[in-house]
Amino acid sequence: MERCPQCRARLKGKTVCGRCETDLDIVQTVEATADILARKAVKSLLADDFPAAAKLAATAWKLQASPFHRALAGFIEKKYHDDLLDHPRQSDPVEELIF
Ligand SMILES: [Zn+2]
Repeated sequence: MERCPQCRARLKGKTVCGRCETDLDIVQTVEATADILARKAVKSLLADDFPAAAKLAATAWKLQASPFHRALAGFIEKKYHDDLLDHPRQSDPVEELIF
């Protein structure tokens, strides 16, 4: 997070905004968690574990609704869906993607 979501001041790595004094520690922790989950989603994708990748990416997107997280979740969901069409499974339905 580069700017304060309240007043748009630059944060310069700080957790408390220098202008409006909003404490952004929790927000920044949630953002960091979303990034960690997104990285784990990519690792799962590279390991062809589409169900895990889809769940991790969807959770990351829920935590941080950024264009990147939305694109990642959409991409992985499509890969998972395409994989299910190519290799149908009985115990792993597409509905698992819906939380
Ligand atoms: Zn501020």
